[in-house]
Amino acid sequence: MKTFDVVVRGKLVLEEEVINGEIGVKDGKVEIISKNTTHLQGGKMLDFGNAYVFPGTIDVHVHCFSNPNEGFISTSTSAAAGGITTFLDMPYDLPNPVNNVEQFEKKVKKLEEEAIVDICLWGTISKKGGTDQIIPLAEAGAVAFKMSTFETDAYRFPRIPDPEIMKAMDLIKETGLRAAFHSENDEIIVDLIEEYQRENKVYPSAHMETRPPVTETSAVLKLLEFAYWTGVKLHIVHVSHPRTIELIQLFKKQGVQVTSETCYPYLLLDVHDLEKFGPRAKNNPPLRKPDEVKGLWDQLKAQNIELISSDHAPWGPEHKDRGKDNIFLSASGLPGVEIMTPLMFDSTVAKGILTPIEFAKLMSTHPAEVFQIPRKGKVAVGYDADFAVIDPEAIWVIDETKFRSYSKMSPFHGKEIKGKIIQTIVRGKTVFDGNAVSVKPGFGQFVPGSAAKENVVGRK
Ligand SMILES: [Zn+2]
Repeated sequence: MKTFDVVVRGKLVLEEEVINGEIGVKDGKVEIISKNTTHLQGGKMLDFGNAYVFPGTIDVHVHCFSNPNEGFISTSTSAAAGGITTFLDMPYDLPNPVNNVEQFEKKVKKLEEEAIVDICLWGTISKKGGTDQIIPLAEAGAVAFKMSTFETDAYRFPRIPDPEIMKAMDLIKETGLRAAFHSENDEIIVDLIEEYQRENKVYPSAHMETRPPVTETSAVLKLLEFAYWTGVKLHIVHVSHPRTIELIQLFKKQGVQVTSETCYPYLLLDVHDLEKFGPRAKNNPPLRKPDEVKGLWDQLKAQNIELISSDHAPWGPEHKDRGKDNIFLSASGLPGVEIMTPLMFDSTVAKGILTPIEFAKLMSTHPAEVFQIPRKGKVAVGYDADFAVIDPEAIWVIDETKFRSYSKMSPFHGKEIKGKIIQTIVRGKTVFDGNAVSVKPGFGQFVPGSAAKENVVGRK
């Protein structure tokens, strides 16, 4: 009888079926999956009974370093507690964005010292004249490239002018990686905010009113057309509105290789929550009206949205509370890595809206496919043994004060949830045991993108 390093028992969520079975893990990989529940032997036996063993969540949209108080240790600890086994960290770091190889290599080194779970790194380009870094960043292992049509910060998070976007798309196409965009129309938003401030209309929902749906859809429409002519693989991040998905579907039919994500707040909150919670519920793009949120759900159920991400942005009261009397002064973004997976489980699988298999596709399989991350995203032989174990019957209440992230401000504080992460496993090792994180910083690995040079792949 063969002995494995670890044997995992439970309700295994495989690609095509859910089985009561066993997984034999050797050297961090799934070596066998068995329907019998008594015969595999391992150095460590983990029996989860009736709990689901999902592929670990892959969160493609995380901002560790938008706030230097956060960083890899707290975000990846929080992610581990939230069932996330791999995340893709955004390039808009403070003070310096990851728009050159030197910055990228520095970040890889830090990651290898501090990560609790596995991490891929996004690259970006500077506002002008930065496209020459695209090929070197791809070879250094960037997983994809993020750009913006909205100027959050002229240096760190700039609006990229159209001619630079076209140049970038041509080069990114050569790498085979994806070009992803924060898509909002800068001019309309800046103009509306000026007008609202002048008229002292600074109440919470003014944030939504100054970023109407057309500011998202018109920005996306331009990018779709650019992708049509350049042939680049396009990805639209944090879609907030169903009309955006309708446009994406039109261009998919014409052969444009475009994928999209929405984020958990756009599905679970609406503009009334912005009115109620103020800065805590402020994000970009903003929360939408209830009928628009319903439209987004319809698109999700129709499988027109590939994946769900958190857009984790770790702001504290010093960034959020200054917007109490003027919503425009608050930082945008919510923390999410620790609560996204259980929140989405609670609102889909627990309510019979999605099957466990559909849930696994949105949270893990599609993220790995869209971003071409090898050996991740499935409970399957030959894949990394990355699992999020969810007890579907456990009921608990979200307590923001217990978040492991620097950010402890969430509009979901106090919400009762059905479905709890009882264990997170990365490459066969328990990184979160249901109560505490059980590995040291540095256990998590850098996962290079698919265009990385061979000497970078498997550096650890
Ligand atoms: Zn973001």
